[in-house]
Formats: sequence, C-alpha cells, structure tokens
Amino acid sequence: MDKAKVTFLGTGSAIPTAKRNHPAVLLEYNGETILFDCGEGTQRQFRVAKINPCKIDKIFISHWHGDHILGLPGLLQTLDMNGFNKELKIYGPKGSKRKFQEMVGPYAKGLGIKLEVSESAEGVILEEKDFVISGVDIDHGGCRGLNYSFAIKERSRLDVAKLKKLGDVRGPLVGELAKGKKVKIQGKLVDGSKLIYVEPERKVSFIFDTQYNKRLEKFAKVSDLLICEATYFEEGDLANERGHMTAMQAVDVAKKAKAKKLLLFHFSQRLEAVMRDVEKAVKKGFKNSVLVRDFDSFEF
Ligand SMILES: [Zn+2]
Ligand SMILES: [Zn+2]
Repeated sequence: MDKAKVTFLGTGSAIPTAKRNHPAVLLEYNGETILFDCGEGTQRQFRVAKINPCKIDKIFISHWHGDHILGLPGLLQTLDMNGFNKELKIYGPKGSKRKFQEMVGPYAKGLGIKLEVSESAEGVILEEKDFVISGVDIDHGGCRGLNYSFAIKERSRLDVAKLKKLGDVRGPLVGELAKGKKVKIQGKLVDGSKLIYVEPERKVSFIFDTQYNKRLEKFAKVSDLLICEATYFEEGDLANERGHMTAMQAVDVAKKAKAKKLLLFHFSQRLEAVMRDVEKAVKKGFKNSVLVRDFDSFEF
C-alpha cells in the first residue's frame, strides 16, 4: 500500500507562540506534494522539517485570513530563487483571484513563477486517477472559505503472495490477472478475480477555521485522519460567537463521523497554559486523538 503522509508545518492560530507557527499542513502521496494553507513563516518551517518546498505543485487555501496565507509571498520568492519550474496551482474559495491579487499580487508580479489561481465551490474540486479532493463551505463569521478532504480511491490490488504460488508468472499475464480476468498459465485456467483484493478508500479531512455545524460530520465521515481546529477548549458559546471550534466540539465531530484518528491543531495561544487539561479531556472523549505539535507527521 502506498502510504500518504501529512506533516504539520504550523499548529498555532492567529498569534504564533515560541513553539507554534501559523497553520500549514503538507500532504505527500505517490509523488504529489500538496500544501494546505500557508501561514506566515511556512517557508522556514519547510527548512526545519528538511522538506524541499520545490516539491509542491498545488496549494489549497481554506480562507484568506492572514494567519492562513501570509506565508505565500515569502514561499513564492523562495520557490523562484530555487529555480521552481512547474506551474503552481493555487486553489481557494470564491473570491480567491481578487484576494490573491490584493494580498500577494505585488510580490508575485516580479517573480518568474507560472501561477494559476482558481476558485472552487463546495463539492468535488479535483479528481485524479487515484485521488479526489473535495470541499465544504466554512461557517467562519461571514468569511468565505472551504474546508477540504483528500480521499485515495478504493482500488483492487493483486495479492502478490497468491501470485507467487502460481510459479513464474510475468509480463502481460500479470496485468490481465490484476484486472480480474481468466488466463491460461501452463495449460491451467486461472481466475484473476480470486487473486485480487479491495483496498478501501483512505481519507484525510482538514477542518480549518469554522464554527461547529452539523455538515462537518457528514463531510468528515470515516476519515482515517480528521484534522480539526481547536481554537478553544470547551467554551462553546464563545467559539460559536467567534466562528471557531472548541477541542470538545472536535471530539464530538470525530465520534459522529466515526473517524479513526483525531488530530487537533490551530490552538489559541491562551491554551498553552492548560494543554494538559485539554489533552486529558480530549483523550477521555476520543481515545485516538493527538494534540499536534509543529513538525509532527502522520501516515494513513
Ligand atoms: Zn486561523
Ligand atoms: Zn480564520
């Protein structure tokens, strides 16, 4: 199985702390390197994580609040200086083209990077042969935005151990068996469908800035990894008023969505002092959860 990996380049929120940079999460899968949000200083976080930023070719922006995008000018400059020669695709919610021009345009203008900014609506945003990226509208104090999910499609695989038992089978025959077809091997008819198994869909959901709403549960359904903002601990009313979520609301979403693992980030600086209490309560509510730190990475 080709594992996918997410690396947290920033786990703080609007105000960074000594330990936490602004939000940015990198996803690597099968040659794809995709950045989700790009808080200020993300380019330096790449250096610390020892990941070459020139590997990226897509950036998904959840919304245009400063803590999620102010790293773009610096990152673009670094890419340019490092000879980045692909087309960089930036995806965002409706209004992103204008926002990009206003907030990043002056820096991007003098650079030699080929850029394309596109605007997406809720639903499927990008579908490739083996994965799909979808979006859902956020509910973030009137700010337009999208939360994203990345799903590796279900697929059938050839059971190598079973194949080996048939002897030395090579070339086009292997391809036919992998398609589940019947082929003749050394005079014997072999049914390919008995040699394949289904690898189920794997999915990571990115719930960045939003207040709690019921649609999140459906969106994050059966996520292998559910990444969720936790600006507050348990002050639900305050979080709703400010268009954010609490760690305990995230626990609720993870339970209802039947997520396998909950990864909390985007903590308010005020939570630093009570992190142990937050961790205890979160783990009690949802055992397989992690309060993520900068540079933590997870496979799925
Ligand atoms: Zn934020
Ligand atoms: Zn925000």
